[in-house]
Amino acid sequence: MTDRVYRIAVIPGDGIGKEVVPEGLRVLQAAGERYGFELRCDHFDFASCDYYEQHGKMMPDDWKDQIAGHDAIFFGAVGWPEKVPDHISLWGSLIQFRREFDQYVGMRPVRLMPGVASPLANRKPGDIDFVVVRENTEGEYSSIGGRIFPGTERETVVQESVMTRIGVDRILRFAFELAATRGGHLTSATKSNGISVTMPYWDERVEAMAANFPDVRWDKYHIDILTAHFVLNPDRFDVVVGSNLFGDILSDLGPACTGTIGIAPSGNINPERRFPSLFEPVHGTAPDIAGQNIANPIGQIWAGSMMLDHLGEAEAAAGILSAIEASLLRPETRTRDLGGSADTTTCGEAVAAAVLDHA
Ligand code: ATP
Ligand code: MG
Repeated sequence: MTDRVYRIAVIPGDGIGKEVVPEGLRVLQAAGERYGFELRCDHFDFASCDYYEQHGKMMPDDWKDQIAGHDAIFFGAVGWPEKVPDHISLWGSLIQFRREFDQYVGMRPVRLMPGVASPLANRKPGDIDFVVVRENTEGEYSSIGGRIFPGTERETVVQESVMTRIGVDRILRFAFELAATRGGHLTSATKSNGISVTMPYWDERVEAMAANFPDVRWDKYHIDILTAHFVLNPDRFDVVVGSNLFGDILSDLGPACTGTIGIAPSGNINPERRFPSLFEPVHGTAPDIAGQNIANPIGQIWAGSMMLDHLGEAEAAAGILSAIEASLLRPETRTRDLGGSADTTTCGEAVAAAVLDHA
């Protein structure tokens, strides 16, 4: 018996989401056994295009009541463009979660794993290991703006960026706290030499927040040169924090530097745990390979590791990461996208076995 019991809302979604989520759960159950906690999972079929076809909407009206009491959401992938346009499937599900559950942190680890070829030359596992933290709720992605004189020669289009002190400070605090538990180094993405109102404000708040974290070294780079350093000097980084737009770009570029889309995970986090946070692989539903049991489940499994970290099970989270590394080393437990021969199930079973074996 344990008092470390977590309630998880499991939402597989569409396509390969339905194939990789069971492997993620297999590994999480193994971790529970090995590290002495219990996951109580409730499975939901909404936030999927199948649900949309039956009900004419992505989620039931009371979805929030159904999920809000859970400690976290373990999400697969959503979208099936042949059946439902992406703007409906995404806005009707993931974006709702992000907004209603105030998941203001977007977090993506960038870590080069063994057995995965980086598109960057001469990099080996251990060289690249950092985290991108993205502000998820404000900044450049506001819908304030409009067109004037449409259709004329004077046609003019304006869109505002919005930064609030609360919004900027809370993401910076999260990033500094994370840096304090990792390598003690924070990098801020800015562009205050070109964007002359919001970005200087961002820089100002970084400096103010840094005063609370004397043990964290920090620096800032303009976004243009920062993207170059991601490619040329990725070993420089520990935690990289950016506004909604810059964080969006960096959180795609980072995982791309460390190899295949099949292994990268992502968290949409409400750090105070007032609402459930959501953990998912970076990849989509991959209609081209769905239903064949060949998808790589590592992104989903790694998302499970992030979820455990968020729930306070750091040791189990690290155990899953080591198990992933062990299985990536062997071609017979790697999936085809990584030049291996394993199918989805075999790969998941191998990671689960490695979790249980881990001394
Ligand atoms: P999104 O749905 O995020 O907008 P998308 O639909 O363009 O993106 P994905 O569904 O991620 O992209 O698929 C992109 C490509 O990567 C496809 O060819 C797909 O087969 C491949 N892919 C994605 N995820 C995996 C995986 N887990 N294992 C193997 N291949 C994958
Ligand atoms: Mg897609």
